[in-house]
Amino acid sequence: MTTVLTPASPLTAADRCDRCGAQAYLRVVLLSGGELLFCAHHGRKFEPELKKIAAEIQDETGRLTETQASAGDDER
Ligand SMILES: [Zn+2]
Repeated sequence: MTTVLTPASPLTAADRCDRCGAQAYLRVVLLSGGELLFCAHHGRKFEPELKKIAAEIQDETGRLTETQASAGDDER
């Protein structure tokens, strides 16, 4: 069901959240053709809304948890 032509390029430190200006970890490609960037915080906050309007959501928030080994989340 993925018919997106643009290859998923990784987000960089230059990509900023549209809401707060923090580093973006989510790229949302809209059904209308636009594109939004969100930090992990706002990505989570708007996720239910985004899923209604997104053609594709590139989620790189996993890179955050790689560097921030949180205690109490040990389900491996
Ligand atoms: Zn933000």
